[in-house]
Amino acid sequence: MKTTIIGYPRIGNLRELKFASEKYFRGEITVAELEAAAKEIRLFNLNLQKDSGLDLIPSNDFSFYDGVLDTAFLLNAVPERYTALGLSKLDTYFTAARGYQGEKGDVKALAMKKWYNTNYHYMVPEIDDDTEISLAGTKPFDLFTEAKENGVKTKPVIIGTYTFLKLARYKGSKTAADFVEQTAAAYSAILAKLNALGAEWVQFDEPSLVKDMTAEDIQLFTALYEKILPNKGGVRVLAQTYFGDVRDCYKELCSLDFDGIGLDFIEGKQSLALVRANGFPKDKTLFAGVVNGKNIWRNHYASTLEILDELKQYAGSIVLNTSCSLLHVPCTLRNETKLAESYIKHFAYAEEKLAEIAELSAIADAADPAETDAFRRNAALHSEQRSGRNDAVRAKVAALTDADFVRLPAFAEREKIQKARFDLPLFPTTTIGSFPQTADVKSARTARRKGELSVPDYEKLIEKKIAECVRLQEEIGLDVLVHGEFERNDMVEYFGECLDGYIFTEKAWVQSYGTRCVKPPVVWGDISRAKPMTVRWSVYAQSLTDKPMKGMLTGPVTILNWSFPREDISLKESALQIALAIREEVLDLEANGIKIIQVDEAALREKLPLRKSDWREDYLDWAIPAFRYVHSGVKPETQIHTHMCYSEFADIIRDIDDMDADVITFEASRSDLTILDVLKENNFRTEVGPGVYDIHSPRVPSKEEIKAAIGKMKERIPAEKLWVNPDCGLKTRGTEETVPSLKNLVNAAIEVRNENS
Ligand code: GLN
Ligand code: ZN
Repeated sequence: MKTTIIGYPRIGNLRELKFASEKYFRGEITVAELEAAAKEIRLFNLNLQKDSGLDLIPSNDFSFYDGVLDTAFLLNAVPERYTALGLSKLDTYFTAARGYQGEKGDVKALAMKKWYNTNYHYMVPEIDDDTEISLAGTKPFDLFTEAKENGVKTKPVIIGTYTFLKLARYKGSKTAADFVEQTAAAYSAILAKLNALGAEWVQFDEPSLVKDMTAEDIQLFTALYEKILPNKGGVRVLAQTYFGDVRDCYKELCSLDFDGIGLDFIEGKQSLALVRANGFPKDKTLFAGVVNGKNIWRNHYASTLEILDELKQYAGSIVLNTSCSLLHVPCTLRNETKLAESYIKHFAYAEEKLAEIAELSAIADAADPAETDAFRRNAALHSEQRSGRNDAVRAKVAALTDADFVRLPAFAEREKIQKARFDLPLFPTTTIGSFPQTADVKSARTARRKGELSVPDYEKLIEKKIAECVRLQEEIGLDVLVHGEFERNDMVEYFGECLDGYIFTEKAWVQSYGTRCVKPPVVWGDISRAKPMTVRWSVYAQSLTDKPMKGMLTGPVTILNWSFPREDISLKESALQIALAIREEVLDLEANGIKIIQVDEAALREKLPLRKSDWREDYLDWAIPAFRYVHSGVKPETQIHTHMCYSEFADIIRDIDDMDADVITFEASRSDLTILDVLKENNFRTEVGPGVYDIHSPRVPSKEEIKAAIGKMKERIPAEKLWVNPDCGLKTRGTEETVPSLKNLVNAAIEVRNENS
């Protein structure tokens, strides 16, 4: 059985691309040095895949920042505000990704959004009425040629035309349908070019096909490919879908002139049923996504072979594939030197998944698969009893009743009590929690990990940082303070480290956006809280100021969504176990004099199923209660905040209100505060702090700009319900831009306050 993967992580085994790019941004290396670092990673990955025996190796899965942004540049969909700066091609690209503030001008970055149901983020292309989509770049061709020169005829990977048009934001009056001709012509030109280069396969990534599709969507999809596919020449075209099943367009996919169809048999709940019910075209190759591209657990060969066996009845030709790009898993286990073998043997990162694919292909071709050594080893591994069971926690979860999820008294009553207690000015200012993680903190953490810095010395440094942070916020004039989160490497990993049931990796980095990577902890066993996790830092910070100090926690849904979850118990069960632990921390903070507690649910929207019909049952019905349980035990006068990244929650706005927090802060600035109308229409009850400036970019927002944002907010939301804050935590920012930004924020709030009274 032939094998392939959808894409390989591009950040490098040791995040080499991140470090090189950041050096380039700081002006420490030249563009040639950056290009060389990138090429090294590409060739390393190429050779690794070649050596693993993979038949079809992807190319153009590399990106300096993001694959959708690459596609926008490839298709000439680049807003003029970036090209007008007159920067080099690569710098124009980075400007669209990160914004620019310098001698040539001041422009904001493109919007950034979550990539389907993952923790990866893509840059949202902007298409204006005068955008002329055409083939304007060479990256897929250059990378195909580069690989060919290194001995491999690869399968170029390009975001498909339907997905591209669906992901873009239309600034003018035109919509996707108006760009069919241009876009189809550009993709035809791509195919012509690949023909000339001698490519045998091209993979068009079409994950948007797994979302709910309207009749119009299906029309758009077919119209595009009816125009493109006649021009494919000798190149075989693979329509690659992932993150779900294609129940709305399976028939069209089968009848269009694709040569291969890639289906996801891991997340695609109905993929197998679709093939069973409709068959699979004899003249096409089925790319069967059976190796999970998102989790880190070893594949269960017996179940995989069962799927493959059944598929063989329908498809004449099958290529064994991952369920999605391996972008979403860490690179290699080679650098995990500390984890015990008893854990590691259950893991498979990208490199190990290559080995699994090779093994599976060999087993699938064997006369008696179950008799092969590889199969036996795999079966033995999966039959082992796993450690980490905690019956007390399981019993507590089982005993929860409806009343446990309800905070009393009701919101309106609490709001009155809290207004009287805190007596905050109109438009109170605050931040989301973290302050710049400066070099001293990071190096102290490394030194502590290596045992070069004692725990008391490390803790002294954290206290010093907290004290400085509190002083700084008082100087700036913020109303509700934070301690700065200096003790945390990461908002999830930190809690994972404090909780029993979690295990940790050293180098399991996964790209989140651009040069930002996260290292998700691993849920191994049942979760419980061994001891207080944040109380001492919050209490210390509160002791330094008369202003309210927010306790700062991460919520159960986000902790779970940003971890590698278990697969042997349900997500709901894991979420409730974590909720139990975080609730204990909330109550401890309250008992120790902390009056405001923020429970971040940054990633709440993230794992919302892609199809609306799955939302409730598969997710919201346990995710929202898990959050509610965390705070349902606090006193009426304790104010509960929550924070969510990304304002794309218009469609679950009621559920967000139903989390029953007292205040919610969220990202809004990058999406032009469009969420405000939705809040207004839905009579949103929770007090809100829509972020007034974008912290993902180093640009300093002016006071006027922030005043304008508050102005827009005021038009739609009662002033008494409004908070003023940046759109997310400041940990990735430098102090140099943070201080002026926050000063502008506070001054803007004060001026609007004065104008209001
Ligand atoms: N409290 C966290 C911080 O400020 C929230 C981060 C996030 O939402 N991603 O860092
Ligand atoms: Zn955030």
